[in-house]
Amino acid sequence: MNPNLNQSLTAIRGIGEETAESFAEMKIFTIHDLLEYFPYRYEDYRIREMTDVQHDEKVTIEGKVHSEPSLVYYGKKKSKLTIRLFVGSYLIKVVFFNQPYLKNKMIINETITVTGKWDAHRQTITANEMQAGPNAKTNDFEPVYSLRGKLTTKGMRKFISIAFQQYGHFIEETLPEIFLKKYRLLNKHDAVKAMHFPGNQEDVKQARRRFVYEEFLLFQLKMQALRKFEREHSPGIQQNYDLAKLNEFINRLPFPLTNAQERVVNEVLAELKSPFRMNRLLQGDVGSGKTVVAAIGLYSSVTAGFQGALMVPTEILAEQHVESLKVLLEPFGVKCELLTSSIKGKQRRGILQELAEGKVDILIGTHALIQDEVTFKRLGFVITDEQHRFGVEQRRVLREKGENPDVLFMTATPIPRTLAITVFGEMDVSIIDEMPAGRKSIETYWAKPEMLERVLAFVEKELVKGHQAYIICPLIEESDKLDVQNAIDVHTTLTHYFQNRYKVGLMHGRLSSDEKDSVMKEFSTNEVQVLVSTTVVEVGVNVPNATMMVIYDAERFGLSQLHQLRGRVGRGSDQSYCILLASPKSEVGQERMRIMTETNDGFILSEKDLELRGPGDFFGKKQSGVPEFKVADMVHDYRALETARNDAAMLIQSETFWTAPDYKYLREQLEESGVLEGEKLD
Ligand code: ADP
Ligand code: MG
Repeated sequence: MNPNLNQSLTAIRGIGEETAESFAEMKIFTIHDLLEYFPYRYEDYRIREMTDVQHDEKVTIEGKVHSEPSLVYYGKKKSKLTIRLFVGSYLIKVVFFNQPYLKNKMIINETITVTGKWDAHRQTITANEMQAGPNAKTNDFEPVYSLRGKLTTKGMRKFISIAFQQYGHFIEETLPEIFLKKYRLLNKHDAVKAMHFPGNQEDVKQARRRFVYEEFLLFQLKMQALRKFEREHSPGIQQNYDLAKLNEFINRLPFPLTNAQERVVNEVLAELKSPFRMNRLLQGDVGSGKTVVAAIGLYSSVTAGFQGALMVPTEILAEQHVESLKVLLEPFGVKCELLTSSIKGKQRRGILQELAEGKVDILIGTHALIQDEVTFKRLGFVITDEQHRFGVEQRRVLREKGENPDVLFMTATPIPRTLAITVFGEMDVSIIDEMPAGRKSIETYWAKPEMLERVLAFVEKELVKGHQAYIICPLIEESDKLDVQNAIDVHTTLTHYFQNRYKVGLMHGRLSSDEKDSVMKEFSTNEVQVLVSTTVVEVGVNVPNATMMVIYDAERFGLSQLHQLRGRVGRGSDQSYCILLASPKSEVGQERMRIMTETNDGFILSEKDLELRGPGDFFGKKQSGVPEFKVADMVHDYRALETARNDAAMLIQSETFWTAPDYKYLREQLEESGVLEGEKLD
């Protein structure tokens, strides 16, 4: 960077120590920082016609003063100034609070320009700015910055303007010429200028376009560099599986693989065999058949003489997986064992010993798998299911139970493509985007809580057919803070409602695992027909005879979670139903319910979820590693993200990138970030 721009802010005329302190609060220390502190929005001073102004919109209009302004004081400093204004053929009211001095500038029949918020119901503008005469602003757009300390918008605009006059010409280009040309991007100097002093909306758009691309390119370069580093520095195991055995196993499955499963199996096998370590994400909607892919992968590793591990987030899921894997694999002489924290004492010691001796081929379990006492003889392949529920650290510990085992992360929460390539940019991604044939899509309805009686009648209709139902509640027990349904109360109510006809079970996270176990068993053997539960049944649980799901207070769940829950039904050949009981107040909440009734496609839902919630909230937690961008927006700018990703991938592989002067700045950025030494991004 040009050293002139690296100077402290106080080099700028008018910025003293005190102002510099306010800037420091905003993490602006140098002239460069200031010049690249961009507005978060723009005040639009273009004159508008009343006919196309929306309720609540902020507008600037010109009008003729119709009558003598009225000024009312209340309290010492508080006042309200009201006038009537002719705007075209409309007569509207304009109100100014606490600016009594404006009164003298308002002369009957003269034109004034006001800026403020339009209230369509009251036909009133609550204004904060006024000029006598027609609009005299030279700029239609004025930047608005997010500010701290004693800084004001006016002051900020002034400082930026001085800074740009004094130092703007020192701004150096950071993007390589070929990309500027290829995408017709503004050069950096002009883009900075346009961000702060746009003449119109188009200027802002062009400036943004440049910075969005630059941010994404840098980000993707780091991801790609990291990926290259990981690949080159993590020699994996070459697993020479027995193809004949594998084919026999696949041929003896009770169903043919879908095309998507077959493709993913091939991707997994190719990587098991390669000398590089697998670091792959497998995405597949609920019910798309990931388990069998996992089984094939694990089995192939076993035929190559290694052990496999499958880690899942809950005990129920672990138990189900162990069941299905045993059915599939034991006929082929593969020994599968379960390890959870409820397996104790002698049994536990036995399993651990057999594992260490290599007698157990595949270990399935919860977090119990990553405890110190667990040692494998020759761990070759690690799979985690519902990977986003595990932290980075837990995944690492599991991986380190072996020497560079291949790792596959499975998830049924379809991650929007945009997030997948950012958050998991350093991984390879496989997608099962096809459902096994013959699956009926689940019919989803949105009902108001008042319709509960009818909903229960509907549930009963399914029960009469011999089917079963899930009833999901957000809470376990009553809460003083939240007015939502809790499983314990609903269980009591429904036990009464269905008495002598159907048995109602209760399931939630506070039951002991023995209790959970027995409830789940009763439900899967149809001794219990109605299961009232919290979201603990969210992942994995498989009871194909259940065809009905009712979700209480559905507005409290995100789209992805609702979709996960809904995936508990529709697992058999019968038509299944999902009823969302909800009366969401917000538009977004209503939109969510509508989307749920309209699509069964997890990928579409996840894109919508991302749109409605924003990337930061998508995974709920900070650890998710969703990067923050200054200008770019992952949802709306995703095309640029893909372009940048392709460019970055190309650059990282090319000779010129590492040598040519045009790429110097980008190379320096990579060096500073530490990714070239394999350091993870923040
Ligand atoms: P998920 O991806 O949600 O983990 P599962 O692996 O549990 O899905 O599979 C859901 C159901 O679909 C299981 O009952 C499984 O046996 C069945 N299944 C998986 N693959 C196929 C297939 N190719 N054809 C028919 N049924 C399949
Ligand atoms: Mg599964």
